[in-house]
Amino acid sequence: MSLPPLVEPAAELTVDEVRRYSRHLIIPDVGMAGQKRLKNAKVLCVGAGGLGSPALLYLAAAGVGTLGVIDFDVVDESNLQRQVIHGQSDVGRPKAESAAASVREINPLIDVVVHNEVLTTENVMEVFSGYDLIVDGTDNFATRYMVNDAAVLLGKPYVWGSIYRFDGQASVFWAEHGPCYRCLYPEPPPPGMVPSCAEGGVLGVLCASIGSIQVNEAIKVLTGIGEPLVGRLMIYDALEMTYRSVKVRKDPECVLCGKNPTVTALLEDYEAFCGAVSAEAQEAASGSTITAAELKSWQDAGENVYVVDVREPNEYEIVSIPGAVLIPKGEFLNGSALERLPQDKRIVLHCKSGARSAECLAIVKNAGFADAVHVGGGVLSWIKTVDPSLPAY
Ligand code: ZN
Repeated sequence: MSLPPLVEPAAELTVDEVRRYSRHLIIPDVGMAGQKRLKNAKVLCVGAGGLGSPALLYLAAAGVGTLGVIDFDVVDESNLQRQVIHGQSDVGRPKAESAAASVREINPLIDVVVHNEVLTTENVMEVFSGYDLIVDGTDNFATRYMVNDAAVLLGKPYVWGSIYRFDGQASVFWAEHGPCYRCLYPEPPPPGMVPSCAEGGVLGVLCASIGSIQVNEAIKVLTGIGEPLVGRLMIYDALEMTYRSVKVRKDPECVLCGKNPTVTALLEDYEAFCGAVSAEAQEAASGSTITAAELKSWQDAGENVYVVDVREPNEYEIVSIPGAVLIPKGEFLNGSALERLPQDKRIVLHCKSGARSAECLAIVKNAGFADAVHVGGGVLSWIKTVDPSLPAY
């Protein structure tokens, strides 16, 4: 699927600009028109960290006319292993300022806008409204959902990326033309379930692999060339050295961009949203949670179990536990799932990381399936402890 250019071309390029961008100008698909669009483009990079560093460097070099950078953090020595926009002498300096200085050095012909502040529900709409496209380089779920929601509400495309150890993912979320982040990940993982790079580490150069994909996609969307990564999730494995792309469909039931949205404004508190599992779910899961390894041993021993995957079809397509039947969480909420559950087997529920399956477990137990259990850590735990050859997402 190709899309029309996001940005109108600037009136002209100066002599200096023609000299600087000549290797772009002689690519027929980019040419004068494409470079003029980049000149007119306003791109905001959320975060000047692992992903933001390479993204900002290449967006600047490419000639994106207005480049915004928002970050509240200061440069720490432990950042320098991957955040290549900062140097030794920047340690202790605000990241937004350090990044802006590097950008100005790379390309003095563009405007840099420094937002040396925390992105919050108070300022996100106003900050985003000044830009055509957002590059998301955030490293936490609360900000990620807020970026998604603000972008969808403002009708703006954004290029998302995430990194962990040797694994990276990227996609373009643009509700007007495809799914949003909530279509792919309807709910955040429970707190502490998915380790951050600070907890689990990240190969420095992985930032460049994913950051460069984000810039690549930003340029395509701005200039209207090629097939943007809308409706596709790119999954990169640096150890295997493989790129896989899987389709991501717009979820008609998406609470934000679906047919009958229930989220029509920013949430009040994204930290709370990302930290919430209901009391019922916690109670149901207490004493009824098994590990992925236990499930595997039950299956191997031929135990009479019925494994139900309560994630969305998108997610099931990416990776699933062998033998698991897909019944999305929504069908538990509306009750239709219950008649599909066998009475003579032990029900084992799982999701991605254990939050949604705990919610469903409460419903299933209330319906009389007293010995039902769910898998703590979900399919991610299965991948980690049972079959590491499967792709995590
Ligand atoms: Zn959506």
